[in-house]
Amino acid sequence: MTRTELPALVAALQTALPDGTVLTDGPDLDRYAHDDAEWADWAPPAAVVLATGLDDVVATVRAAAEHGAPVVPRGAGTGLSGGANAVAGAVVLSLERMTRIREVNVDERYAVVEAGVLNDDLRRHVAAHGLWYPPDPASQAISTIGGNVATNAGGLCCVKYGVTRDYVLGMTVVLADGSVARLGRTTAKGVTGYDLTGLMVGSEGTLGVVVDVTLKLRPLAGREDRAVVGWFGSLPDAGNAVAAVSAAGIVPAALELIDSTCLRAVADWQGWTLPEGAAALLLAKVDEPGAAGEALADRVAALFEGAGGTHVERAFTPDETDRLFLARRLAYPALERLGPVLTEDVCVPRGAVPAMLGRIESIAREADVVIANIAHAGDGNLHPLIIAPEGDDAAKARAKVAFDRIVDECRALGGTVTGEHGVGLLKLPGAAAELSPVVLAMHRAVKDALDPHGLLNPGKAFPGAPLPG
Ligand SMILES: Cc1cc2nc3c(=O)[nH]c(=O)nc-3n(C[C@H](O)[C@H](O)[C@H](O)COP(=O)(O)OP(=O)(O)OC[C@H]3O[C@@H](n4cnc5c(N)ncnc54)[C@H](O)[C@@H]3O)c2cc1C
Repeated sequence: MTRTELPALVAALQTALPDGTVLTDGPDLDRYAHDDAEWADWAPPAAVVLATGLDDVVATVRAAAEHGAPVVPRGAGTGLSGGANAVAGAVVLSLERMTRIREVNVDERYAVVEAGVLNDDLRRHVAAHGLWYPPDPASQAISTIGGNVATNAGGLCCVKYGVTRDYVLGMTVVLADGSVARLGRTTAKGVTGYDLTGLMVGSEGTLGVVVDVTLKLRPLAGREDRAVVGWFGSLPDAGNAVAAVSAAGIVPAALELIDSTCLRAVADWQGWTLPEGAAALLLAKVDEPGAAGEALADRVAALFEGAGGTHVERAFTPDETDRLFLARRLAYPALERLGPVLTEDVCVPRGAVPAMLGRIESIAREADVVIANIAHAGDGNLHPLIIAPEGDDAAKARAKVAFDRIVDECRALGGTVTGEHGVGLLKLPGAAAELSPVVLAMHRAVKDALDPHGLLNPGKAFPGAPLPG
């Protein structure tokens, strides 16, 4: 879009949408211009729309299509890959005001929710009906269901209970021309036609705008949480414990790793005192009820000790266990307080976790950067967090070298370049290395079929995605 066309676009949006839903002031545009991936490129959009319902989403997409303007769908902007970053002249379409939970069907165990509902709000709401929505990204208090669906978010309990995709039965989606598609089903099973619901999950806002989602739920009852906590003298030792748990055929309800850099950052921030002197902490949860759960927790503790774990403790007090799991959830924001964080999201086979952790340590030494580690270790999904002090351009350049080397090493170990955060912008080079020309051509064919003018979240999700103009 040229500069002279922008006023026409903004006027069309203001005519088509209710008062107070179209933002055009500079500070508002900046606020909605990017997600939490500080290192990815972005530009101020032409306008931000705070949609309040399906009609607003349709009106926005139609107005943008008529003016040839890109649309960048947005939930809460907690993404870590630049997926919600605006391009110049775009309309950022925020779903954050669409927070209605329309239905909870207790007998059929599903809920229908608008895209802007926060993950935690859904969890609390359905718990009152005796139901449980498992996918629990560490951002569950601040990220939206629409964003979770668009990124196919993972989380802590996904090692046992699966990722967002496993819970999406259907959705209402607005396509690039403004038409409305109702996809999927509410039944437990159903295979009518292509799995277009599945196609939309993880499509990062490039194929349609998710307006509401029908989500499968599980019964809340029947689980009893028990924790096993172990400290390790080195990261690879902790990795060996993860590989041993997997090799023993145990599927814990969570198996998370936090290194001492993260723990110190959380403890300093929250004023907590934590044991010193260990390189990493593993937090396992098992949730089988009764004697089976007791026995499983014992086996996990023995495997931790066998891998060199020190201070391995079973059934820590519930308060202490909650505090350590909270430390895991707070690790990312705690590190962000130390300086800009470049977040990795590689996923390797579980058996390769020790080798990958060792390679990350070597990369940190060789590139002379600080790399902290948090991980959904039970899934092999590692988040090396590369920290560069504010304003230190040389450190920033070294961080980028480390980022690329981690991706290369992950691929050499049979891994994939993003486990849960999505390709967005940051992982475009990694995805180019991972996806074959045939597979990239399939991506392009799907995109061209559903969004022939390349207006929905241009340039994201796969290398070669069309850019505006
Ligand atoms: C502290 C912290 C911890 C995190 N932990 C995890 C974790 O454990 N697991 C995990 O998977 N992620 C995690 N993340 C990343 C992030 O929270 C997830 O990617 C989340 O799913 C993004 O949701 P959001 O509402 O913020 O979406 P946004 O960041 O606003 O958008 C993310 C992507 O989805 C698209 N999008 C958003 N809403 C829609 C919609 N309605 N229709 C179509 N497209 C849409 C956007 O265009 C963009 O491509 C974490 C982030 C932070 C800051």
